[in-house]
Amino acid sequence: MKIEVKEKNGDEIVFIIHDADVPFVNAIRRIAMMEIPKIAIEDVNIIKNDSAMFNEVLAHRLGLVPLVSDNEAIEGLVIDGECDCDDYCPKCSVSFSIVENGPGTVYSKDLTSTDSKIKPVHDTIPLFKLKEDQEVELEAVAKVGLGLEHAKWIPTTVCAYKQYPDISFDPEKEVFPEVVEACPRNILKRNKKTKKVTVQNIENCSMCGSCVRASENNAINVGFKENTFIFRIETDGSIPPEEVLLNACDVLNEKADKIITFCKDVL
Ligand SMILES: [Zn+2]
Repeated sequence: MKIEVKEKNGDEIVFIIHDADVPFVNAIRRIAMMEIPKIAIEDVNIIKNDSAMFNEVLAHRLGLVPLVSDNEAIEGLVIDGECDCDDYCPKCSVSFSIVENGPGTVYSKDLTSTDSKIKPVHDTIPLFKLKEDQEVELEAVAKVGLGLEHAKWIPTTVCAYKQYPDISFDPEKEVFPEVVEACPRNILKRNKKTKKVTVQNIENCSMCGSCVRASENNAINVGFKENTFIFRIETDGSIPPEEVLLNACDVLNEKADKIITFCKDVL
């Protein structure tokens, strides 16, 4: 298997995997979305809420605020449900609070954390608005969870792969301009003098087949390369995409280890 990074900036990474198969790539995708520990607000104790927002909506909104959850930040925290305590304790949770008076807009930066490492990823997410003399006082408890349980614990906003496109031309047939124009992503270019058509940035091809349908003489064929995939991971900023990938591989490794141990015990 060979892997090459195509693009990497901030919270996004695009890479190409050669010599892999669908079940393997799909296992990585599913684990990256569903089984990577991330911290998010789970319980909210609203002491006072004069804002126009209902308590339930406010609590839901707080739950969806991405919190810094990289390995360094959540190291040592026990996953929700695996702690010895009845509800929550410092071993399995981090507390936040908001005490604000109107008028004004309350942003994610106004969430005061008891742990300096675990805080909102972005400071400028609007939470609610307050008018003159309105007050909001609340305490929130963030817990480590998995995307399997709730979308707020999914670290990825995009986690998808597609097969690597493969475009071929019949050397004995002419590719007409309407075929080039049919491509919605403009990846085909036609040289007016030589009438030769070339492919630019093939990875942008969505394999929609518009060019094939526009070619009356079947001069173009669109398929995909077996066992080569373009994989894109974009996160909400809580965990860097490389770390999501690494953690997904660790989880897959643990699963494989369990099967190995099981096999050794049975044999
Ligand atoms: Zn606990």
